[in-house]
Amino acid sequence: ELSVRRPCRCGKSRQMLTGARLISLRCLSCGAARALPARLPSPACSAFARRSPNTYLTGRSSDRSLVKMASETAAAKAAAAQANDEGPTIFDKIISGDIPANIIYQDEYALAFRDINPQAPVHFLVIPKHRNGLTRLCKATESNKEQLGHLMLVASKVAIAEGLEPGYRVVVNDGPQGCQSVYHLHLHVLGGKQLGWPPC
Ligand code: AMP
Repeated sequence: ELSVRRPCRCGKSRQMLTGARLISLRCLSCGAARALPARLPSPACSAFARRSPNTYLTGRSSDRSLVKMASETAAAKAAAAQANDEGPTIFDKIISGDIPANIIYQDEYALAFRDINPQAPVHFLVIPKHRNGLTRLCKATESNKEQLGHLMLVASKVAIAEGLEPGYRVVVNDGPQGCQSVYHLHLHVLGGKQLGWPPC
């Protein structure tokens, strides 16, 4: 739960974000709750909404980033609770062709496709075609060494093909605290603009 300061009708100002995917604001003083509006008035806010369809938004940008963070954290926790080592993931369905994706590279072992919710002008994912137990990076063992190396080489090769020579970032989100939402190991490759640091 995250605390956000907003005025309440009862005259107090302390309110709190609650819930998992459905986030609401609740006043700690009078207990009044209200759902956050899903639509925003300004074009800038609409762009934000388009980038983050599962995010519930308030009118202030500081609140928006807190709500977005709460939503992603909640989604990551939910994904972790549902993750299992055997069942097919959404990425397995992309590999099998059951779900369409914008595929930009593939070979026998790896697939690269554009992220459906890009966080940079260029944002693609590199995944192993055969998961071999790699739901997340922390499951890696000595036996995955070659596979992991191959994914890094593919990330580098595709990054160059995408015009990212000036620089890019490779990210692996691991587990609920790392905000992982799909339990099929993947590298995020982000670039196409000057990136900032630190990322959190
Ligand atoms: P993570 O949160 O690190 O597990 O990253 C999962 C990524 O997969 C997110 O950036 C999503 O936007 C992306 N994603 C989920 N479903 C799809 C899809 N069908 N096609 C492309 N990217 C997807």
